[in-house]
Amino acid sequence: MTPTPHALEDALFTNSFVAELAGDPSWENEPRQVPGYHYSRVAPTPVANPRLLAWSAEMGAELGLTPPPEQGAATELLAGNRVADSMRPYAARYGGHQFGNWAGQLGDGRAISLGELAGTAGRRWEVQLKGAGPTPYSRRADGRAVLRSSVREFLCSEAMHHLGVPTTRALSLVSTGDAVVRDMFYDGHARPEPGAVVARVAPSFVRFGSFQILLAHGEIDNLRALADYVIRHHYPELGAPSPAGYARWFTEICRRTAVLVAHWQTVGFVHGVLNTDNMSILGLTIDYGPYGWLEPYDPAWTPNTTDFGGRRYAFGQQPRVGLWNLTQLAQALAPLVADPNQDLRPALDTYISTYQATYHARLLAKLGLTSQHPEADHALLAALPAALEAAEADMTLFFRRLSEVVPALLAPEAEVTGWGRELLAAVSYAAPGSAGEAPLLTWLSQYADRLRAEPAAPEAIRAGMLACNPKYVLRNYLAQQAIEAAEAGDLSLLHTLHEVLKKPFAEQPEHDALAARRPAWAATKPGSATLSCSS
Ligand code: AMP
Ligand code: MG
Repeated sequence: MTPTPHALEDALFTNSFVAELAGDPSWENEPRQVPGYHYSRVAPTPVANPRLLAWSAEMGAELGLTPPPEQGAATELLAGNRVADSMRPYAARYGGHQFGNWAGQLGDGRAISLGELAGTAGRRWEVQLKGAGPTPYSRRADGRAVLRSSVREFLCSEAMHHLGVPTTRALSLVSTGDAVVRDMFYDGHARPEPGAVVARVAPSFVRFGSFQILLAHGEIDNLRALADYVIRHHYPELGAPSPAGYARWFTEICRRTAVLVAHWQTVGFVHGVLNTDNMSILGLTIDYGPYGWLEPYDPAWTPNTTDFGGRRYAFGQQPRVGLWNLTQLAQALAPLVADPNQDLRPALDTYISTYQATYHARLLAKLGLTSQHPEADHALLAALPAALEAAEADMTLFFRRLSEVVPALLAPEAEVTGWGRELLAAVSYAAPGSAGEAPLLTWLSQYADRLRAEPAAPEAIRAGMLACNPKYVLRNYLAQQAIEAAEAGDLSLLHTLHEVLKKPFAEQPEHDALAARRPAWAATKPGSATLSCSS
């Protein structure tokens, strides 16, 4: 039975993380090391004038919540100005490898978990405020978040959910009325920006780095307790924890991470900062910072200026980075099993095979191919990325337009090169007739031949492809336009994007402009083409 929806201020929170794990006995809210504990109790720091800017009706409904008014008790809770009696707010301790180097203790420096709410089907969801003020893990930073990065997290995490990509969710976006000073490109141009708080939601926010910090300090009992907590609450199908159970658990983490990365690689999402503290133990996309969406297909692309030197986290690197990060997690979990080589290492192969199989299956579906032609399909799929790159084809538009032209490509009298040129003219960023078109034109004629071997009717193939090739993604420049408008007090584009991205596969012709190729001015614009970790 679903309970009747109620206001957030009437919701009852539970607090399993706080109740079942080791809490820091000091409540002193000063930056410090917290050896020996999983978390620190800390209250959010109130803000000047909270106002609800956006609310996820879907996430709210899952939590049994009615949409709150712009100001009032719920918004006070969502801003951290009020703490409900049933909440036990805390910041989690974790560490991580940043850009390949061990960084020691990081932790929730500006995120504060409020507790868990019950969802449908017996699920529990943790609700966390991002930007809610300093914690013992804030190091030298202020614990706050700016509106621009909060808009980006709110819109993108919800859009990813509706695309079917595993992700943390967002419940609300609240402006604080306080200014937050940021130097957006670390170039000596610090300026005050409007502050905001996002309430984000996930079954758990535990990260790879949550385990790494415990191994780094030799806290093996804490390590086992955290593993048991995660298994008990989030992997109950694995049964009671045991050495063999930990191995099965790590295999499942590897499998989920592989599926996650395969999603990213087939929608064109670049996370931007795949440090081990930004890897969810549940295989969710977590910590939306300087992420971006591929427009011209380019494996070397990242929007993150902090990563321009090494491009460690560029689009094409993500599958490899997933494996590297899992290898670090395996090292952290090693004390839990009898023989790490035997018990944990095989799961890394599971990552590779699951990634390859999932990527392959998702790409076949995007191309409308269902029947079994393994050898031909392998060659066809392998040739596509380089052809897309040479043609400077827009990742999203290419697959969407390809879906639309399938019946024409399959017509008996089809002149594939002609169709191919038209397709390219609609999706490429290169000048028409450029030399880079040739590989994609060749690929398209091979594809048309292969498509003829499909048993389904052209219209059915087209419909199947349209259902897995989105028309709408959160293009980098659209997010930036929504931010600039919101900073000027106009929330209309933010709300329009939020709504349109709930149905990324639907035509919504009145919003065609939001599915257009990136305009030339946006190719180099800061905030659209380039982002930093400053948020
Ligand atoms: P990120 O790069 O966003 O994953 O953050 C890395 C670490 O820095 C995490 O421990 C964050 O909690 C912390 N952090 C980022 N921004 C802030 C901030 N404004 N105040 C305090 N801690 C922060
Ligand atoms: Mg992070």
